[in-house]
Amino acid sequence: MSGLLNGQNVIVMGIANERSIGWGIAKSLHAQGARLIFTYRKDRSYEKLAKLLAESGIDPLLTVQCDVSDDASIEAAFGRIGAEAGVVHGVVHSLAFADKDELGGEYVDTSREGYLLAQESSAFSLVAVAKAVKPLMTEGGSIVTQTYLGAERVMRNYNVMGVAKAALEASVRYLAEDLGKYGIRVNAVSAGPIRTLAAKGVSGFNDILNAVEEKAPLRRNVDQSEVGDATMFLISGLSRGVTGEVLHVDAGFHIIA
Ligand code: NDP
Repeated sequence: MSGLLNGQNVIVMGIANERSIGWGIAKSLHAQGARLIFTYRKDRSYEKLAKLLAESGIDPLLTVQCDVSDDASIEAAFGRIGAEAGVVHGVVHSLAFADKDELGGEYVDTSREGYLLAQESSAFSLVAVAKAVKPLMTEGGSIVTQTYLGAERVMRNYNVMGVAKAALEASVRYLAEDLGKYGIRVNAVSAGPIRTLAAKGVSGFNDILNAVEEKAPLRRNVDQSEVGDATMFLISGLSRGVTGEVLHVDAGFHIIA
């Protein structure tokens, strides 16, 4: 099979089930011939992932557990990836976490614990992953994370996660500067709302979907395959001149006042 990513080893982090954005991305990467390495946190996610892979005929290079809130887990996972895959060309960071209680009501009521948990899992995790993968990206590489408009603007109920995504987007820029000299690019995709397990935690999610359908230039929502293809573009050499960028894949919603 000939594809844009033939012979490239790409890690996908953050698939919980068939609705996960990470799964849409994995399918787009696979279609372009990437050799895929998967990381998961919960055993339940592993079971779902194994089933999805079997059903879709995707044969992974490696599947390894990695809890991004735990340094030892990151070290063990990337140690195994290095030992078994050698070189890594791409990483997709498609994960975030916040306590459901913090994703509704007023941001002013955010707890210290809830703030730190969201920042740690959703923003610092990109920094930790970039550090761990850097020694494996000996041929240059591309790191892509997933963010949301709530980083740039106040989106009701997104609260602590919006602030974590703002830190994530700033991290994309600082990491792009640090890693650019090694030929490693760092970018983000800012997806429109998509019904996933993580999205269920955000109060009033249906209203957000309806607002996009009504106001976005394309008058519709986006799906996992569209985010998958855009992420694939940022992983591939087609985007070789792009780094430190946030690419909106949201049917144009972000340009509307
Ligand atoms: P999912 O719930 O499908 O995926 C979230 C993933 O994050 C899960 O696989 C989960 O693993 C993983 N995760 C959470 N905490 C950790 C951790 N400490 N260590 C390792 N993995 C962890 O939701 P989405 O696909 O929607 O989310 C993927 C990304 O896309 C997130 O960054 C999200 O903010 C972003 N995004 C989502 C949008 C949407 O509307 N859905 C819009 C814009 C951006 P496990 O279940 O095994 O713990």
